[in-house]
Amino acid sequence: MKKIILLVVILFLTYQSDAQFSKFFEEKTLRLDYYHCGNAKTEQYFFDELIQEQFWAGSLTYLIDSLGYGNQRMEVHAADTGELIYSRGFSTLFGEWQTTPEAKFTACCYPESLILPFPKEKVVVSIQSLNRMGIFEKNFEYTVDPKSYFIKKEREKLPVFDVINSGIPAKTVDIVLLPEGYAKYQEKLFKDDCQKFASEFFRYSPYSENKNKFNIRGVWAPSKEEGPDVPGDNSWKKTRLNASYYTFDSERYLMIKDYQGIRDVAGNAPYDFIYILANTEKYGGGAVYNFYGISAAHHVDESGKIYIHEFGHLFAGLGDEYVGGVEYSEFYPTNLEPWEPNLTTLVGFDKKWKNMLPEGTVIPTPDKGKNGDKLGVYEGGGYVSKGVYRPWPNCLMNNLHQIDVFCPVCIKSIQEMIDLNCR
Ligand SMILES: [Zn+2]
Repeated sequence: MKKIILLVVILFLTYQSDAQFSKFFEEKTLRLDYYHCGNAKTEQYFFDELIQEQFWAGSLTYLIDSLGYGNQRMEVHAADTGELIYSRGFSTLFGEWQTTPEAKFTACCYPESLILPFPKEKVVVSIQSLNRMGIFEKNFEYTVDPKSYFIKKEREKLPVFDVINSGIPAKTVDIVLLPEGYAKYQEKLFKDDCQKFASEFFRYSPYSENKNKFNIRGVWAPSKEEGPDVPGDNSWKKTRLNASYYTFDSERYLMIKDYQGIRDVAGNAPYDFIYILANTEKYGGGAVYNFYGISAAHHVDESGKIYIHEFGHLFAGLGDEYVGGVEYSEFYPTNLEPWEPNLTTLVGFDKKWKNMLPEGTVIPTPDKGKNGDKLGVYEGGGYVSKGVYRPWPNCLMNNLHQIDVFCPVCIKSIQEMIDLNCR
């Protein structure tokens, strides 16, 4: 009897949330493009345009972000009542650039873009950013009239193909794979690389146990020339998405500045998360939480591990557990608790993996190199050796070369994200 009551309650709650979605939204996407500008200390947003896209792949019941990850937060409020009807956290490449030495001396603009379910009535879309005190500040607000004839509807049509199909987009995690630097004659190569992505991806726990909760699709968009730019080798290519190594002068940091250009290709398929396969052997990649991920599809033996590491940033907001490697200043201010679930400065450790620690764990946990899989609080992580702590001596979010599993904290965070997206 209790089980039946529980089932009825669950069905009722699901119905209620579905009803909330259909009260406010249609099952297609509204895209809001803007420019994210500023320098190390200032930040401004400039509206660009609105676009209607044909699919909505997101959950119809998980509308309000309950995790609070990301340096930015998008909120959508009903214009007439002010009710919060949709929200998502995310981070941006611009935000990373703000911590580089260059940002101290110059200002810069990055094209960015938000997506939300298509509203039925007027809504107010706002963006809040985490300031240096760790508090969200509203920096942008725009009222959208969904009936406006200025919302663009004409889009370039590109062919879409299934890599893995597990069910309807609203109840699954939908990954869209995009090609970068594949020439016209390399369509088959890209399709093979998409299959390789899927087989690598599901080799790692907890993705392996959750295979039936993922859809993976590819969009075919050829480039005029092969491979991304490598400024350090003075090698420049005409490619579809304009990816480049040496982002922020870090050789292996392969990224794309024009996020709107990425969305143009991705919008041909239903998607929650965008991952880009770069037609190159050169080691490298990058990913930003709830933004996009990219990496080399043909690295000799580590393409799969790079996928899984970068996807951890993109999908579950996992931070890098390694020390060094990038030129950032104060990426994680030690007086604030980072939002990344697998890093702590001990400022707000109660909300992190404290309740998962074995009894009697010493903080900081001495790393004698023999701890193996002992969960602890190891000093060093988030690019610095002091003041930031990680859960395991080594995890897939740390050094790719010596390990092929995630630590228990990363596994828990990934599972949580899968469950939320499949609600
Ligand atoms: Zn980890």
